[in-house]
Amino acid sequence: MLSFFPTLYPDELLYSALARYHIRSGNKTFKQTDLELFGYSSQQLCKVTLTNNLNYLVKNLSLFSQLTVSDLLQNHTLYPFYASFLIPQQAWQLQDSMRKKLGGSILEVAKVANHPTDNSTKFLKFCPVCLEQDTQKYGEPYWHRIHQIPGILVCPTHRVVLHDSSVAVDSKGIHYYAASPENCLTNQNQVKYADNTVEKLLILAHDIWNTSTINIPFKGLTWLRNQYQFYLINQKFMTLLPGGNFRFNEKSFSNSICDFYGQEFLEIINPNLIKNPDKYFSGYLLACDLNPVIDRITHILIIKFLVNSVERFFT
Ligand SMILES: [Zn+2]
Repeated sequence: MLSFFPTLYPDELLYSALARYHIRSGNKTFKQTDLELFGYSSQQLCKVTLTNNLNYLVKNLSLFSQLTVSDLLQNHTLYPFYASFLIPQQAWQLQDSMRKKLGGSILEVAKVANHPTDNSTKFLKFCPVCLEQDTQKYGEPYWHRIHQIPGILVCPTHRVVLHDSSVAVDSKGIHYYAASPENCLTNQNQVKYADNTVEKLLILAHDIWNTSTINIPFKGLTWLRNQYQFYLINQKFMTLLPGGNFRFNEKSFSNSICDFYGQEFLEIINPNLIKNPDKYFSGYLLACDLNPVIDRITHILIIKFLVNSVERFFT
């Protein structure tokens, strides 16, 4: 049993508390910390945001700890984000993989691409204002979970663009680096976005958050494709032809959605999308159920454009 464990701060990423444990334990290696916390040491990718073997960790906590596995999953990992767009059985499987010692790939269970196409998820992110306020309030900074959710590029509390720290999210070796002034240096060369782009990034951040916390079971990707078809026909981007065929005006759809969001915004969110938006959107609209990987952000962008409300779409 662990002799102590740091109290988690509001919306603190579990990894962050593990890193603070590492410092206080005085352990010389990350492996030693891994063995103490989880009973084994693994080099799993995605361990930073989708930590597994939580049952072992919680059982190992002091008798005075109130922490439960479900509390950790829901409030201190990216489980709620990755559970979105998964049907209940798949979400349960993801949860189960995080509760236990993991055998296979968590990315496969979460239906996430092995190599993220954008740069936005490579390093742990921080908001300079949160960093300062947390240090004043708690005596130390910490990694906020919401700042690590893919697609969230602005701190929803302070409306400030997030900065990359120097701590890599998916490095091969294990590590436990707590947030610190040394690894959270404000990048003076950070690109400045136009005010209306920041505003759009904020709206997207709220939509991603709402999608992650929505309490409606997802009905599956085939359902999603049928929903898209319904709205595309309704908005005259698609025409039904005899024999169950259809004609989709991908150019008109792509022009409309690109106008709606603006080039700068889409380029920040996904540089690959902007290279060939016609094909990119078509793939998601017409064949999302054929792809083993789910790009939650693109779906949220499409839903928001078609229906203007994520909640309404799912209900
Ligand atoms: Zn902030």
